[in-house]
Amino acid sequence: MGVDNILNIYGDMHIHIGRAAGKAVKITASSQLQLKSIIYRDAPRKGLEMVGVVDAGTLPVAQELEEMLQTGELRELRAGGFLARNGVLLIAACELESIEGVHWIIYLPAWEKLREYQRFIRSRVSNMQLSTQKVRISAKELVNMTCILEGILCPAHAFTPHKGIYGFWTDSLKKALGSDYRQIRVIELGLSSDSDMAATIDETRAFTFLTNSDAHSPDNIGREFNRFRLKNKNFLEFKYCLENAQGRRIMANFGLDPRLGKYHRSYCISCSTISTEAPPVSHCYKCGSDKMVMGVYDRIAAIQDRKEPGHMIGRPPYYYRVPIKQLPGVGPKTYEKMLNYFGSEINIMEEAAQSDLARIAGEQIADMIVKMRTGRLPIIPGGGGHYGKVQKNSG
Ligand SMILES: [Zn+2]
Ligand SMILES: [Zn+2]
Repeated sequence: MGVDNILNIYGDMHIHIGRAAGKAVKITASSQLQLKSIIYRDAPRKGLEMVGVVDAGTLPVAQELEEMLQTGELRELRAGGFLARNGVLLIAACELESIEGVHWIIYLPAWEKLREYQRFIRSRVSNMQLSTQKVRISAKELVNMTCILEGILCPAHAFTPHKGIYGFWTDSLKKALGSDYRQIRVIELGLSSDSDMAATIDETRAFTFLTNSDAHSPDNIGREFNRFRLKNKNFLEFKYCLENAQGRRIMANFGLDPRLGKYHRSYCISCSTISTEAPPVSHCYKCGSDKMVMGVYDRIAAIQDRKEPGHMIGRPPYYYRVPIKQLPGVGPKTYEKMLNYFGSEINIMEEAAQSDLARIAGEQIADMIVKMRTGRLPIIPGGGGHYGKVQKNSG
C-alpha cells in the first residue's frame, strides 16, 4: 500500500433508526433518527465519514434506502457499501436477536444481499417493520447465513447483561460455537467495557474490537467511534480493517470511560445501590439481597481467565472520551459556538488547539478537553441502567 492513498477516517458502526417511510422502526429510539439526517446532518456534525445503520433490513428503512439510491442521494459501490454525495459511507447492517437471546450485527455489502437477508428471515420473525427483532435462528445458523451473504457477523455490546454474548449467554464463545468460532473476527465492546477489560478473557485476543455508540438519538451518535485506516471508502476496505488484512486496520478505539456506562457495576434492585466493593459483586453488601443486575465489570471479573489483559499484537489504543455536551459547564450555546468554529465534534475532541478552545469556550472547558485527550476525567460510576457522570470542577 503506497504512502499516498491512505485515508484515516472516523466511523460509528451501530446506529439505530427511529422512523422511516412514515413508520416507527425502533420504538425506544428518537423519531429524529432518520436515514437521511444521519448521513447528511448528524454524521458531518460529529466528524464521521462512515456510519453503520443497523436497521437497514427492516422494511421501512430498506424502502428509504432504495429511494435514496434512485434519487442519487446514495450510490452503491462496486466494492460494496453506499456512498452519499457528501462523502459519507453508509454500511447497511442488521441487528437481530438469535434464539440464544443475544444480539448480533450483520454488516452487508450490497443492496441485493440486503434483499436476500430479508427473504431469509421473513418467515422467522413476527414483524419485519421493527428493529432488532427476535429471529428464529441459532447463533450457528447465523454464522452460516452471514457467510452465504458475504457479510460480517459481529456480536453486539458483547459484555452487557442485556443481551450481550458474554454478559448473558456464555463465558466462552469458543465453547458455545465450536468450530464456527473461527468465523468471528470482530466483537463490539459496548459502552461499559474497554479493550483492557475485554482482554482479560483470553479468547478475545483473536478479535478486532469495535467501539460504537448504539445510538438511540442523534445526540448519542458518535459517543463511541473508531479510527479506520483504509485506502478507499467502501465495504471491502471496511472488511479488511476488521480482519486486520492488507495493511488496513482500526488505528484507535474511542469510547466512554467504562465507569460512565449504565451497566458498569452491579446494581441492587431491592435497595437501588450501585456496588463499590471489589468485583464480582453478586449480592448487595448494603441490604443482603441477591436481586442484582450484574455489572459489566463484575461479569468480566467473574468469567475472566487472566488477571492482566492479553492483547493481540498491534491491538490499537483505547482512548477514553466523553461527548462534549456531557462535560460539566458545556451548555447548548457553547456547544454550537464550538461546532461552528471547529467544524465537527471530533475536531473539537481530537484536533483543536488548547488556546483556540479556551478562546471559544473558556479556560475550564479547554482544560477538561485537553485532560480528556491524555488520560481520564474524574467520574462517578454508573450501574443498573443509570449512566455515570463526569465530576464537576474537573477541568
Ligand atoms: Zn442490541
Ligand atoms: Zn442496538
